[in-house]
Amino acid sequence: MAALKPYEPGKPIEEVQRELGLRDVVKLASNENPLGPSPMAVAALRGAIDELNRYPDGGSVMLTRKIAAHHNLSPAHIFLGCGSVEILNLLAYLFIRPGLNAVTSEHAFAIYELVVAASGGVTKTAPMKDYTFDLDAIGAAVDADTRVIWLANPNNPTGTVYKRDAWERLLARVPDHVVIVADEAYFEFVRDPDYPNALEYLAGRPQLIVLRTFSKIFGLAGLRVGYGVADPEMVNLLNNVRQPFNINLLAQAAVLAAMDDHEHVRRTLEVNAQGIEYLEREFRRLGVEYVPTQANFFLVEVGDGVAVFNALLRHGVIVRPMHGYKFPRHVRISVGLPEENRKLIAALEQVLRKGA
Ligand SMILES: *Cc1c(COP(=O)(O)O)cnc(C)c1O
Repeated sequence: MAALKPYEPGKPIEEVQRELGLRDVVKLASNENPLGPSPMAVAALRGAIDELNRYPDGGSVMLTRKIAAHHNLSPAHIFLGCGSVEILNLLAYLFIRPGLNAVTSEHAFAIYELVVAASGGVTKTAPMKDYTFDLDAIGAAVDADTRVIWLANPNNPTGTVYKRDAWERLLARVPDHVVIVADEAYFEFVRDPDYPNALEYLAGRPQLIVLRTFSKIFGLAGLRVGYGVADPEMVNLLNNVRQPFNINLLAQAAVLAAMDDHEHVRRTLEVNAQGIEYLEREFRRLGVEYVPTQANFFLVEVGDGVAVFNALLRHGVIVRPMHGYKFPRHVRISVGLPEENRKLIAALEQVLRKGA
């Protein structure tokens, strides 16, 4: 346990302001919603503050019902987590032991490997193809000791998706002793018509769990709410090992309201689509290689990723270096508001011209 390395989050704005003495700092490092939280969620939060002396509803009954109804399922299929990362953690806690392994892709979301290591297991990684999860290679890596397959669709930090045909081939070959986790944190942003919505594959598959979150398109990363959709037996297992009040009172109130704020979601998609168009055009103008994205961020090849990250910091722009994801020549850049994107491009142009 002492040898494990904790997750390295994006640098907070205040830290950069303090360390570099900068006032005007833009954070494009954590794939957050640049429009802020839903105004309806903020209003609900204000109303809930006076109830903070009370414990929250430990079963998150109203919120669970609302999410279930949204997906046309019974509440028994829904499990709420303190962010979807709590659910990743609980899944590893339930299914991984020393001697057992989990399978994912190289360059996958970093938390997968961390939670497996914390449960004493080993992560086996299959190579990517074209910056994309290769589900055939992932299926081939499964062995008798595999208990979990982690899939991010779209993946973070590549922004790519695997397609329906590859997904169906994987489902057909994976043995019943393996839990398949389809992490769809960026589901709402996807535009590819061949993208498989994993929720449509739940029937008859008790080992499949689909994860969604309120951290990304709903703009509520600071509240920490994600959920899993799965067979009731899987939901029961998760409930048996979670903390009794894992969704706090403010979070329950805010998410209930945010789910009705269709206008905020629509505006977010619009800002993201415009940002993608602008950034792609500018990356091409600068001669910078980028991976086409199905999410709200870009993986961009810049040379020395850490050096460019540091140079951009001095211009007041926080991005994410990717050496930890075995992409030492890349940074990950979240799509921001138009003025934030312009500030990033102006800084990147200067940094690349000077050589970081
Ligand atoms: C951001 C992200 C999540 C969401 O994490 P939360 O704990 O719900 O904030 C999950 N998976 C991936 C791949 C992500 O990028």
